[in-house]
Amino acid sequence: MPTLAQQVARRRTFAIISHPDAGKTTLTEKLLYFSGTIQAAGTVKGKKGGKFATSDWMDIEKQRGISVASSVMQFDYRDHVVNLLDTPGHQDFSEDTYRVLTAVDSALMVIDAAKGVEEQTIKLLNVCRLRNTPIVTFMNKYDREVRDSLELLDEVESVLQIRCAPVTWPIGMGKTFRGVYHILKDEVIIFTPGQGPLDEVEIIQGLDNPRLDELFPLEIENTRMEMELVRGASHPFVLDEFLEGTLTPVFFGSAINNFGVREILNALVDWAPPPGARDATARSVDPTEEKFSAFVFKIQANMDPKHRDRIAFLRVCSGEFSRGMKFKHLRLGRDIAANSVVTFMAQGREQVEEAYAGDIIGLPNHGNIQIGDSFSEGEALSFTGIPYFAPELFRTVRIKNPLKLKQLQKGLQQLGEEGAVQVFKPLNGSDLILGAVGVLQFEVVASRLLNEYGVEAIFESTSIYTARWVSCENTRKLTDFENSLGNNLARDAADSLAYLATSRVNLSLTQERWPDIVFHATREHA
Ligand code: GDP
Repeated sequence: MPTLAQQVARRRTFAIISHPDAGKTTLTEKLLYFSGTIQAAGTVKGKKGGKFATSDWMDIEKQRGISVASSVMQFDYRDHVVNLLDTPGHQDFSEDTYRVLTAVDSALMVIDAAKGVEEQTIKLLNVCRLRNTPIVTFMNKYDREVRDSLELLDEVESVLQIRCAPVTWPIGMGKTFRGVYHILKDEVIIFTPGQGPLDEVEIIQGLDNPRLDELFPLEIENTRMEMELVRGASHPFVLDEFLEGTLTPVFFGSAINNFGVREILNALVDWAPPPGARDATARSVDPTEEKFSAFVFKIQANMDPKHRDRIAFLRVCSGEFSRGMKFKHLRLGRDIAANSVVTFMAQGREQVEEAYAGDIIGLPNHGNIQIGDSFSEGEALSFTGIPYFAPELFRTVRIKNPLKLKQLQKGLQQLGEEGAVQVFKPLNGSDLILGAVGVLQFEVVASRLLNEYGVEAIFESTSIYTARWVSCENTRKLTDFENSLGNNLARDAADSLAYLATSRVNLSLTQERWPDIVFHATREHA
């Protein structure tokens, strides 16, 4: 039996991030395939025909039912336990997408090498930076005509503000893609499309090996010249800098052709960090502490709208979870008997027997669990670092039937606690304002208000561009600020004061005019 310390040391918990269409789903499948978890690629996700423009609740939930099962996947690789967390994109993009990143120890960034750094990648990387999360980079689609590789590294460095350390380097691209040169091992891995995990890989030692000149003289000559430049223009891989989040090892390949996948898995196991200590308000919690602790980073409404069933996603922070154990819901001060806790495997949910730091477990509940809630065996540990993120989309909400105001408020309160949407109450005026980072969040809220609370809500666009939570050590100045800018201020569900800016310019002007006020793009769980 492995000890607790060994269980922790062999765990890797990472998120896979990318802009839509870069190849995240494909790479996820291939990671599972190469770990031996699935027999053939293509069996993980229902192909996302996720074009649900209408707000049909069941449709959304069916879609989500699929994504629940596959949004967290656990698998074994080289005697390690790997937890892979998906970050929903497309219409599914929501605040959860950001918050997933607070529950991982590293991230795998997939970039479409024909396109380079795209918008959603930038947003997600900014969130990773809040915790200096180590990033592994995969440049995908080298079987196609892609952009110049050095230029791509340049773009990652300047746009994402992270140094690049190429670990492999592509030889050719598109029709003349020949493989990659593994810089650290000084060997060439020959591109053979569609190789499986058990197939023998053709490897040629040394970039100067004459065998390479026989195989593809033009491309290898070009690579040799390029390597001179690469060595001068990029950074060597330094493990500590990767672990600090300031340098990313970069791999090149083609997910759809199974090429480069094994190197990624090995990098995650060899270099990515095991679960570390997590901060709670009182103290830092070490993953090898005997006592169980965990926090909630995501809540997923269940399939049946009549039952208000939810699954709370817990990241285990310390100790051992075992089926049937009791632990304390710290905010409510109540014991929970965890009989039906689920784990998420590639093929769906299973009852969880045991779990350790880094693992993600699902706790069914009826709405008494909120984002950021902490659980322990009794000690008052309130984990920090599970923030709310400043919304980027806003709607005012009204109701058709004024008699339903109470239900509306109750519904929004609960949906807010679940993290489905953020609710702001303007200091002046009576309309409630909803904030989200993905547009589907509004659709989900509208249909859930109707189905679960019987409220027909009307959402209207607003002129709000973004929100910033504000604070100030000097209470008199804060009062001044409130009195002067009341029309732009609102309180959120936790009663925190937020400035609602009408434009980027408006925000920066206000910041200039009020130098003593601190504007925050995230808010900690209350
Ligand atoms: P996601 O939106 O990031 O999950 O992207 P998908 O995995 O669904 O991939 C988007 C599209 O790119 C699909 O049509 C894939 O078949 C394709 N794709 C993924 N990887 C590769 C690759 O290595 N080469 C090529 N040519 N296409 C790829």
